[in-house]
Amino acid sequence: MLIDHHVHTFLCRHATGDPSDYVGHARHIGLQGLSFSDHAPAPDGYDAENRMAMEEFPRYEQAVRCLQGGKPEVLFGIEADYYPGCEAFLAPWLKQTPFDVVLGSVHYIDNWGFDNPENRKVWDSVDVTETWRTYFSLLGELADTRLFDVVAHLDLPKKFGHRPPDTEIAEMAKPTLDRIRAAGMAVEINTSGLRKTVGEMYPSPLLLELAAERDIPLCVGSDAHAPDQVGHAFDRAVALAHGAGYRETVRLRGRRMTRLPLPS
Ligand code: ZN
Ligand code: FE
Ligand code: FE
Ligand code: ZN
Repeated sequence: MLIDHHVHTFLCRHATGDPSDYVGHARHIGLQGLSFSDHAPAPDGYDAENRMAMEEFPRYEQAVRCLQGGKPEVLFGIEADYYPGCEAFLAPWLKQTPFDVVLGSVHYIDNWGFDNPENRKVWDSVDVTETWRTYFSLLGELADTRLFDVVAHLDLPKKFGHRPPDTEIAEMAKPTLDRIRAAGMAVEINTSGLRKTVGEMYPSPLLLELAAERDIPLCVGSDAHAPDQVGHAFDRAVALAHGAGYRETVRLRGRRMTRLPLPS
């Protein structure tokens, strides 16, 4: 009985299928609920090719609302990116829009979309450890804004397999996890990494243990960009959570968290 907190729609321009098919798949595999969390519009032009335009947002809300009221429960969420300057739009907009869940992500370092396959070659010309350090400091800034509920894909820079040793990751992640904890945010286990070069979920077992030690709430998401990815490998996510010391997960509704026992 889990809720998939991270599901996209075709409005982001890189996902396929009808939103009703995502809900249909969730029902088919017995999920308790799913939260649509498509990439938020950014009127300043940030990463315009991977998100809905502001004018499309009413259509997104309508598409989600149409699917509510049955089983599984359908939640109205958004995946919003943190980047320097994002608050000008996001702070008022997130406050005035009645979301159930706001995922916070970092997909860019300066002008480099580091998880975009088109930009993968850039990894060959950067200092991997320094890149990760910059990433975690951006995540810390994300937490400090208090704009978001959940940190999405906590160790996204590993997507194509570039990463420093675990000891270095732990040292740079700990202060960021402290800031996430201080912000009252959750982290997600995001199973989409299993479908990428790295071949493992976000976050790594090590980072999840560090989150569990801090009693940071946990939710689960597939980051589905196609209907049959909804709830993907949630059995493995549950096993990863248990292994890290978690015994509970959370659900979000109206941006409030409720603790639920983790299935065994
Ligand atoms: Zn996407
Ligand atoms: Fe993302
Ligand atoms: Fe996503
Ligand atoms: Zn995502």
